[in-house]
Amino acid sequence: MATHTIAVLPGDGIGQEVTPEAVRVLRAVGKRAGVTFEFEEALIGGAAIDATGTPLPPETLALCRKADAILFGAVGGPKWDHLPQESRAERGLLALRKELDLYANLRPAICFPMLIDASPLKRSVVEGTDLMVIRELTGGLYFGEPRGRESFADGGERAINTMAYTTREIERVARVAFDVARKRRKRLASVDKANVLVVSQLWREVVTRLARDYPDVALEHVLVDNCAMALVHKPTHFDTIVTENTFGDILSDEAAILAGSMGMLPSASLGPAAAGGRNVGLYEPVHGTAPDIAGKGVANPLAAILSAGLLLRYSLNMTAAAAWVEAAVQRVLEQGRRTGDIAKPGEKVLGTREMSDHVVHELEG
Ligand code: NAD
Repeated sequence: MATHTIAVLPGDGIGQEVTPEAVRVLRAVGKRAGVTFEFEEALIGGAAIDATGTPLPPETLALCRKADAILFGAVGGPKWDHLPQESRAERGLLALRKELDLYANLRPAICFPMLIDASPLKRSVVEGTDLMVIRELTGGLYFGEPRGRESFADGGERAINTMAYTTREIERVARVAFDVARKRRKRLASVDKANVLVVSQLWREVVTRLARDYPDVALEHVLVDNCAMALVHKPTHFDTIVTENTFGDILSDEAAILAGSMGMLPSASLGPAAAGGRNVGLYEPVHGTAPDIAGKGVANPLAAILSAGLLLRYSLNMTAAAAWVEAAVQRVLEQGRRTGDIAKPGEKVLGTREMSDHVVHELEG
């Protein structure tokens, strides 16, 4: 029987409530698929600071390096906000992304038919939306050098950030995007600002060149301003979108509102393919630790559960099992099961555990 080791890092706040539910779902999948998952839990974020003084203890990093995939909750909260930037809880996640070179961030945005009313956009616009935004995560403006501020004699200042990408950085994230598009509806939109930025011109050239390896995927180039408009005007136009770090940061949040609630949004961050072609991956809900509801058992576990689905698909190549998880979530929503964040006034509201019970029941049934 195949065995996969999963590093489980619940972190803080509702991360500690929703991550165990995603583990429960994976156990049910393992039983059904005849696969053994070994779960090894480790500390990260505020919980790690409290226990060890650092947000990413060496043991946690070592576990993540040897695991087949990482299931992550969320980190941070008011208790650790007073700490200096470098030792805050959120550093645990940033350091982990850097150490594992997780360069491709995948964020699906699906508008589930039964949750259309939770979206701020009109039904006629969002109905049928099912897209994936792939954001380059380790390059571009957020990391480019030189960066900093300089003062002028007249008292004025100048601040600098640098947007820079190498061919290699563009190629590896574009390759992930083509591979993902191939597993979806075989359409890829590469988003840039090639009419103004030389970085975007290189981006466009590299993506165009790579497209020759993927003749079955239809590629289009879209300017970032047009993409921002089209996402709220005609989101169904898109299937897979790939873009650089800053554009992706903004567009993936814009795409997120199409889905209605933070509690529904999973994500994956992929690193270099290890020996055997397996992608090291970290899977987490898009939401944070939600201090306002933490400890009450009311958080929506579906983002974490759908993240476990992405883990099956992208790190373990268990495509059918990933589809089981997505179908189970869909059925539970069809049955009208709702947590507080997605319930309409008057609808029965379930807690974290009860909602997950229904998903597990669907998987077992
Ligand atoms: P948040 O995502 O934690 O919460 C935003 C709002 O959405 C809150 O009202 C919350 O109750 C609600 N919400 C979020 N997830 C939900 C769920 N599963 N079910 C129901 N409602 C949900 O964002 P925030 O309030 O800006 O941040 C809180 C803390 O989380 C901060 O310390 C922040 O740094 C941290 N954070 C961590 C991550 C991460 O670990 N990846 C991401 C974002 C924020």
